[in-house]
Amino acid sequence: MAAKILDGKAIALELRESIAEEIKSQVAKGNKAPGLAVILVGEDPASQVYVRNKKIACEKAGFVDVSMELPASTTQEELLARIDELNARDDVHGIIVQLPVPKHIDPEELIERIDPKKDVDGFHPYNMGRLATRMPVLAPCTPHGVMTMLAKTGIPLRGLNAVVVGASNIVGVPMTLELLNERATVTVCHSATKDLAKKVSEADIVVVGVGIPEMVKGDWIKDGAIVIDVGINRLEDGRLVGDVEYEVAKEKASWITPVPGGVGPMTIATLLQNTLQAAYEL
Ligand code: NDP
Repeated sequence: MAAKILDGKAIALELRESIAEEIKSQVAKGNKAPGLAVILVGEDPASQVYVRNKKIACEKAGFVDVSMELPASTTQEELLARIDELNARDDVHGIIVQLPVPKHIDPEELIERIDPKKDVDGFHPYNMGRLATRMPVLAPCTPHGVMTMLAKTGIPLRGLNAVVVGASNIVGVPMTLELLNERATVTVCHSATKDLAKKVSEADIVVVGVGIPEMVKGDWIKDGAIVIDVGINRLEDGRLVGDVEYEVAKEKASWITPVPGGVGPMTIATLLQNTLQAAYEL
């Protein structure tokens, strides 16, 4: 049976429209439109595309874009000072540092400098800690966006076996916490995991964020499983593929996310949702 498609593009559009409506009604009540600052350091081409997409989405939804593009030569101290300024501004409600940053910059120190109330990427240890203790405030965007998509399947997650492949701070670990908070039984896999195929084959839900094209083979997927592919990989022939062998997996799964048009659009929409929450304490 061919899987139903979890159409991230459509779900994200719906979410962005509801955010735009909320901003309109807040502004009509006399409140400020939320301000989002994306700090881009250097000229990484992929980051420039991500930042441009974030700016477009931000402006379309009625946010005020206060982004800054800084040269690769910017020092750690200069960046910390910029973050301090943004923390102090009452027209800025969300601050994110676009990763990766140039090698001479320590990203952890920058993230920790952001006021946790403005940490709309949800990467600050305070926000990770809130998620880990089942009291989330601003949760990391990609995993939280995946939860919004999973809710669209209408399938209760409680008691399901979930396997998360990848254990990074921005994808795998917060994804694990989100699923655990919904009472799924979660197995986290990483580069030292033995017999990954067997672990994946036991999952009712598989979330993959590794960064290796089509690493999870379609025939590992259990019949009827939900497959969420966070991976985005550009092949030499220019095609974009995920971390899951989509064509085979979609014949076994009940629901699956495409790449592109799956998790990617949800990440930006969730960033806007977090900024809205930070601005109005929703
Ligand atoms: P990282 O490189 O930070 O983390 C990769 C993770 O995969 C690590 O935990 C690593 O394990 C694990 N891993 C590596 N090799 C294997 C293996 N052979 N078997 C099992 N696990 C393995 O990547 P990110 O988390 O930042 O990104 C992952 C993917 O998601 C990328 O393709 C990225 O482009 C995409 N992405 C997509 C987003 C979206 O909006 N759709 C947002 C963010 C990322 P270990 O911990 O042991 O090193």
